[in-house]
Amino acid sequence: MPAVKRLLVINRGEIAVRVIRAAKEMGITAIAVYSDADESSLAVRLADESVHIGGAHARKSYLNADALLAAAQQTGADAVHPGYGFLSENADFARAVVEAGLTWVGPDADTIARMGHKAQAIATAKAAGVPVVPGSDGLVATTDDALAAAARIGYPMLIKAAAGGGGRGIRIAGDDAELVAGITAAQQEAQAAFGDGGVYLERFIPRARHIEVQVVGDGTDAVHFFERDCSLQRRRQKIWEEAPAAILDEPTRDHLCASAVELARSVGYRGAGTIEFLYDPATREYFFIEMNTRIQVEHPITEEICGVDLIQLMLSVAQGDPLPVRQSDITRRGHAIEVRINAEDPARKFLPSPGTIDGLRWPAGPGVRIDTMAYDGYTIPPYYDSMIGKLIVWAPDRPAALARLRRALGETELGGPKTTLPFFATLLDQEAVVNNDFHTTWVENWLAAGPA
Ligand code: ADP
Ligand code: ADP
Ligand code: MG
Repeated sequence: MPAVKRLLVINRGEIAVRVIRAAKEMGITAIAVYSDADESSLAVRLADESVHIGGAHARKSYLNADALLAAAQQTGADAVHPGYGFLSENADFARAVVEAGLTWVGPDADTIARMGHKAQAIATAKAAGVPVVPGSDGLVATTDDALAAAARIGYPMLIKAAAGGGGRGIRIAGDDAELVAGITAAQQEAQAAFGDGGVYLERFIPRARHIEVQVVGDGTDAVHFFERDCSLQRRRQKIWEEAPAAILDEPTRDHLCASAVELARSVGYRGAGTIEFLYDPATREYFFIEMNTRIQVEHPITEEICGVDLIQLMLSVAQGDPLPVRQSDITRRGHAIEVRINAEDPARKFLPSPGTIDGLRWPAGPGVRIDTMAYDGYTIPPYYDSMIGKLIVWAPDRPAALARLRRALGETELGGPKTTLPFFATLLDQEAVVNNDFHTTWVENWLAAGPA
């Protein structure tokens, strides 16, 4: 594969900015795409070149395969970075990019199809000897199939869309009646939301930690960059992430990371990926839940503890370079925390709060990193995900990282739209958070009890 010289970044927001920065440092020409709503975006301002791709609605722009391929041709791009969300895990699009003679910065289309389909990924993990959650072992087609599987799995269980993502396409069933009512509805919803009605069942693991391993492969070998704990979630979406997972002891961490590398190697993985697990601290068991065959929102905390640029690594392996590091060269240092800054009103059930930013002061100083598309005077459009950026802190240990996060939140001023920033200032001081004693539904329970 030829070296990447002109990279088309087919995403928006903070991840487009992040990829543009990485490309420029490598001497690669970074080309932004923008919809009608994003003409004044930071990505457009920071890119070397930019190209308009269509209407504000993602369907007409960031999800519009034909417009994106035309933009690549028009700008003479030789590679495409998809970021996360949108077309990043669309195997057909990845294939079309390669067929157009371009380099796709991600795993090959067959790997995306295999690992991006959640039921297929579970089968692949199982075959690689990685523990999985007790479940239906594949899709359930009919209510009778579901009931038969449920008798083995036990309640409560989750009905999960095979093509779901971003915390969407998951519902809980507490008994046979809920399962029967849920299965058809879940299939219909999945068909409407993801264009794929396939669903499968999984035992609900209570009080679990969400722990995920960052892997990078070059097609021949794969390495890990340790793990992240993303157990603080709202509606099954991560809102706060940490690296490393302070709950793990060293032998468990070794096993978990080795399992992830084993799985990546078993599919000849090329690119950056994340292997997600649920971890039960009571039994020290871990279970594979899914793989994301792309860069993730929370990748910066891994970059901070490992001193690596994951986007640049993605570009390297995409252009055919072998991994520049061996596992034994990869070390970690200190503790990093990321909080997702969403333009939402925590006082109104996190209702999206788009609008113009009026008065902005980001925090700075030692160990503080801001990945964002926001600038003073920027108007957050209403058409897309409400995440406008991430505040990332690094410190030598977890208590120091919490103190630094408190300090950084205190320095931040963002006028205009409501954001989750004040919410994090409250969350930070909760005993469970300070003591690292929480699980994937802890935030929901806490909110239901009525603070914030
Ligand atoms: P991460 O682990 O990187 O947080 P998420 O699963 O939260 O990954 O997804 C990252 C982004 O992509 C979010 O903005 C989310 O809304 C979006 N996303 C991911 N998968 C899908 C999907 N299948 N449909 C719609 N949006 C998705
Ligand atoms: P998505 O593709 O939307 O990211 P995941 O399968 O990664 O879906 O699950 C998202 C979140 O839902 C997990 O981080 C966890 O909080 C919860 N979850 C998923 N599977 C289970 C399970 N079997 N038991 C308990 N919680 C689960
Ligand atoms: Mg997930």
